[in-house]
Amino acid sequence: MKQFQTSYQGLDAFRKAAASWQDWRVSHGAGAAFIHILSDGASDRDVAAARAAVEEILPDAVYVGASASGNLYKGAVSTEKLVITCTLLEHRDSFARTRLFSVENRDAAPFRQALRDMRDELRDVKAIEVIMTIDALPIREVCSIIQEEIPAEIPVWGGGAFGDNSFTAFVFEKGSPSNTHGIVMTFLGGGSLHVMSSCVAGWRPLGSPLEVTKAEGKILYSLDGEPAYQTYRHYLKIPNDEHLFYNALEFPFAVGTHGRVLLRHALACQEDGSLVMSTDIPEGSVLHVTYGDPETILQSVQSCAETIQEFSPEIISVFDCFGRKTFWGGTEASREIAPLHRLAPTYGFCTAGEFNRRQGVMDHHNLTLVVAAMREGGPVERDTPYAAPETAQNESTMSMVSRLANFINTATAELVEANETLSRMAITDLLTELYNRGEIQRRITERIREKADDPSGCNATSLVMIDLDDFKHINDTYGHQEGDLVIITVSATIRAAVKELGIGSAGRWGGEEFMILLPGVTQEKAAAFADELRARIAALSFPLCSRETASFGVSQATAGESPDHLILRADGALYEAKRQGKNRVCQAK
Ligand code: GH3
Ligand code: MG
Ligand code: MG
Repeated sequence: MKQFQTSYQGLDAFRKAAASWQDWRVSHGAGAAFIHILSDGASDRDVAAARAAVEEILPDAVYVGASASGNLYKGAVSTEKLVITCTLLEHRDSFARTRLFSVENRDAAPFRQALRDMRDELRDVKAIEVIMTIDALPIREVCSIIQEEIPAEIPVWGGGAFGDNSFTAFVFEKGSPSNTHGIVMTFLGGGSLHVMSSCVAGWRPLGSPLEVTKAEGKILYSLDGEPAYQTYRHYLKIPNDEHLFYNALEFPFAVGTHGRVLLRHALACQEDGSLVMSTDIPEGSVLHVTYGDPETILQSVQSCAETIQEFSPEIISVFDCFGRKTFWGGTEASREIAPLHRLAPTYGFCTAGEFNRRQGVMDHHNLTLVVAAMREGGPVERDTPYAAPETAQNESTMSMVSRLANFINTATAELVEANETLSRMAITDLLTELYNRGEIQRRITERIREKADDPSGCNATSLVMIDLDDFKHINDTYGHQEGDLVIITVSATIRAAVKELGIGSAGRWGGEEFMILLPGVTQEKAAAFADELRARIAALSFPLCSRETASFGVSQATAGESPDHLILRADGALYEAKRQGKNRVCQAK
């Protein structure tokens, strides 16, 4: 593959350039040519002149064109108004075919049919590049149609032609006028052609995840139950004014959905505190605020470049979200194109939304750099290894922003851990590490309530209450320490027995009293379990007191019975066990 590129500086200069491309093509016996004519506010006259010159000088070349928010030129994000890039395919069997679909009344069916026709007509399609006006159809819909109609192993990448208040987005191809509701596709194929597409974000997550508690399409109503804008207000002090879009651009959301994480940014805030997002956000998904930091972003581009380098590209197509250009502040965005351009000549433009097929799935992206690397034939051995990235970030050169973000993330993780420890402590008995009385009581109440809510689920609920026998005597004779040791050992035995049963929760009810909640277990089974446990406790041996026994009371909840009453009946059964001589299990009547 071979690339020629020029910016349009008047018709004479352009005709000369185009003639030199054609000369090269003829003298080198190159095959198909495909051309991109990308306009960032160029006049209609200049675009028309460039098209006519291409048609005359390279009569068999195909071309596509689109409106851009910035043109990539010579590996940089330039301010050039019109850039023409000619890509030559050198292998005889390589081909490039273009097709423009005009979408009427947002009806997707003809587009789907046309896509099928192309798929069936063309043999050996290796990749498809797509440029569309986003008013034609929602990008999401285009992605799902492509996903359904084009085999998953074919890379597809593309983006939205750019339009704003001053001009309407358009696309065109050879033989058709500019179309403001169109999708133009370039089908690339042939046995020698290889294409890989990839996508770079570079924004990093910040703080804890937030749940999308309410969203409808592009309107993000609430996060963790709070109005969505509150996240920007509360954590980042971003005011709700005309700069919201620009301020929020540095902190887009990384939304996790269907196992994929995609960036989405806020366009505006509505009166109710909801955010109008760049793309639909599914309700119930989880998102993170992310931060954009030039050094971190460059590092991501760098690692993408390293992967692409292994592929050994001859040409790289770059669809760069205009939001990234805005983030960089204009042509500074060239810094993230440079690492790619060092690998191979690039072409492309700043888009309004982009998409890419990754691991066989079409994703609609925002704020990314979608990159497609192409080559004909096998990978080429490089004489010189890829230049070590001067922008690579390590711990000694991390930017201040990255360090601060690291501080926030580390502090947040520590707080989450501390919180979990506190929550665990709040429900655990310190000496025995069983649940404390409050927790076991809460569990009993919750279980009884659940049953009351679902009377048809006639699942049994039983309690086993335990009290050590003649415990005062142990304390008095062998000391408090020996008493503690007995309590700890018996508790471990209870925990092991419940674990073996596979169901139930055990708690310390009082000094040397314990309570076991057995959901789904009848009184009969609970009593059998209790008797086994009784024997295990009686078989324990201790350093000083050598032996200790316990008495058990078992009760099963009756319909409509209150938790307190159920506990009272277990206590009554326990009292009966004591009365009958201890070291035994009694069941409530
Ligand atoms: P009974 O067989 O009738 O239950 O007789 P008992 O001596 O065990 O009587 P009771 O259950 O009323 O006595 C509980 C004793 O347990 C009283 C208290 O000194 C002791 N105790 C309570 N908590 C602890 C503790 O954490 N450690 C120690 N070592 N002893 C405790
Ligand atoms: Mg007691
Ligand atoms: Mg006792």
